[in-house]
Amino acid sequence: MEMVTDNNEQSTCYYLPHHGVFKPDKMSTKLRVVFNASALSFNGLSLNDIQMNGGLTQEDLFSIMLRFRKHKFVFSADIRKMYRMILVDLQQRDLQRIVWKNGENDNVKTYKLNTVMYDTTSALYLATRVLHQLVKDEGQCFPLAATVLDSDFYMDDVMTGDVSLEAVRELQTQLIRLLATAGMELHKWRTNASNLRSNISEENEYSFSCSSKTKTLGIACDHLTDCFSFKVLPGPQNTKRAVLSNIARIFYPLGILGPVITVDSNGILRVGGRLEYSNLTDNQKHPIILPKSHRLTKLIFVYSHLKNLHGGPQGLLCPVRQKFWPIHGRNLSRKIVNDCITCFRNKPVVANQLMGNLPAERITPIFPFNVCGVDFIGPFLVKPVAQGRITARKMFVAIFVCFVTKAVHFELVTDLTTEAFIACLKKIFARRGKSSIVYSDNATNFVGAQSELKRLSNVTQA
Ligand SMILES: [Zn+2]
Repeated sequence: MEMVTDNNEQSTCYYLPHHGVFKPDKMSTKLRVVFNASALSFNGLSLNDIQMNGGLTQEDLFSIMLRFRKHKFVFSADIRKMYRMILVDLQQRDLQRIVWKNGENDNVKTYKLNTVMYDTTSALYLATRVLHQLVKDEGQCFPLAATVLDSDFYMDDVMTGDVSLEAVRELQTQLIRLLATAGMELHKWRTNASNLRSNISEENEYSFSCSSKTKTLGIACDHLTDCFSFKVLPGPQNTKRAVLSNIARIFYPLGILGPVITVDSNGILRVGGRLEYSNLTDNQKHPIILPKSHRLTKLIFVYSHLKNLHGGPQGLLCPVRQKFWPIHGRNLSRKIVNDCITCFRNKPVVANQLMGNLPAERITPIFPFNVCGVDFIGPFLVKPVAQGRITARKMFVAIFVCFVTKAVHFELVTDLTTEAFIACLKKIFARRGKSSIVYSDNATNFVGAQSELKRLSNVTQA
């Protein structure tokens, strides 16, 4: 930070609002300054608005953590005040101005911050890019550290290790020296190798901490027991909402942590659920969870497929689920049936119905029911209340289906006589307009109605 003595305002400059955040429970920095680079200036833009984030230059957290798990001896540390060790280009520093006064009666002074500012959009990129540059510039003298600085750092945290104690010692020394070339220093060392801690305890500055528990990359890990731990605070009520909210708060990039049950007395994971009081067997109530692609899971599926005489995928999944709960079971079931050579050889060829072209009446647009089909359903027992009848009588329903629009019209018909059908036909014509063609199945009443209508037509034409 340097004081701005030149009273002439630069054409491009930005004043960062800032305030202190006091956290008495913090071990290292109890009072922290927070800068707000998102505060809008007079032209409606903030410092963050005009910065680019530069993208990610480091490996993703997932790969780093996976690699970390494979080492026999591991350690973690972080770079002390990494951002403060990196100078910003001279021309850019006027964008990082603050105003400050030491006491109530002091004059307000203007300062500009010379180093990379956290809480700004480009900060992470600038800092991690510097680490990569350090590898390019000085890495050839520290080959072990160069590889680790390139691939095992996430922001300012390192999580790495090696196969032997000697290798880890050498790696530590190289890392310290490589970062020292840029004036950076590693601290908060943690390791799982007790020898390593006692061996270098005389080097106070770079000694490994005796406490095995640390929070690295946002995850609490215990290097001695080789365990990641997660703090879950159960609420006063273990409602579904409370449990889901707790799960959502757990940060674990490897994604293999989740709530599990009814680990039973044999240490077997089972599905939970609310079937405790049902009379199903224990296996059906709480089936054993099977991993997706484990050999045993496949063997159980193959066994069940053979035992059930080569049934289809659905027929295979059902008996398996009587006892087990395979993860992604449907996919596996399909795969096992697809891969079965016996099933493949005996696969019957399914005959397909040859479909003809649709008749012109079905596909020529015209008003509804102009071309329709008719059929009867019934008989239904109906009590005609209006006629004061006590006993029920048989009635039928005529269904008219429009060939073009597929609209359906129901009409109650008193019996199967020609007269009754003609009465019904009159009703639908009155409601829907006259049809030009009505298709039927040549039942007696339809044929009778046709002859009656033809006779009437001849009479009227004569
Ligand atoms: Zn089969």
